[in-house]
Amino acid sequence: MRILVVEDEHRIASSIKKGLEQERYAIDVAYNGTDGFDLASTEEYDLLILDLMLPGMDGITICQELRKKQIHTPILILTAKGQIQDRVEGLDSGADDYLTKPFSFEELLARIRALLRRPKNSINTILTVADLKLDPKQYVVERGNLPIKLSNKEFSLTEYLMRNANKILTKEQIISHVWDYEANVLPNTVEVNIRNLRRKIDHPFKEFKSLIHTVRGFGYKIGKK
Ligand code: CA
Repeated sequence: MRILVVEDEHRIASSIKKGLEQERYAIDVAYNGTDGFDLASTEEYDLLILDLMLPGMDGITICQELRKKQIHTPILILTAKGQIQDRVEGLDSGADDYLTKPFSFEELLARIRALLRRPKNSINTILTVADLKLDPKQYVVERGNLPIKLSNKEFSLTEYLMRNANKILTKEQIISHVWDYEANVLPNTVEVNIRNLRRKIDHPFKEFKSLIHTVRGFGYKIGKK
């Protein structure tokens, strides 16, 4: 597995590189945003580790530009700032996960493993449930040919539900497939995300049947009631 580390603090960059090489990852390092973006958009990486505050081009912009270019390499953001706002901004810009400095090397490794385990572009069949379509490769969701804008998490949740259409999925199943890090999952996280999905996938489309169903005491499913 080949990883690009974009980090301007040489001490941090070299300790990540050293540590990950011991875990048999192949590591490239870029020390500024411009070089990082160039490498990330021309070379094939399995994962990007991206600092937010960088000379040349900041981490958020790199994320956005890569996603615009349809490059969907998983991105783990490193940042010194741990505020909720940064987290939301990072994840909205197309990053997959987030780690606040200082972090333990064990935690970095755990996050990397979780991101690399996720199914990637290899699974690129367009999923269809009734009039709802999801393209995992292009990150597009449509209902009746109208595009639906989803956050990364809502997208993953929809994808997971659609891959298991008409099957009841428990909250625990959903959490373990959609959220890699249970520590960040609040008790009502699944409910909140399901509610948001209904608001985006079912409510605006009165002419179609509702697709997202709650099965009391068991969990959720997408498809036929
Ligand atoms: Ca920095």
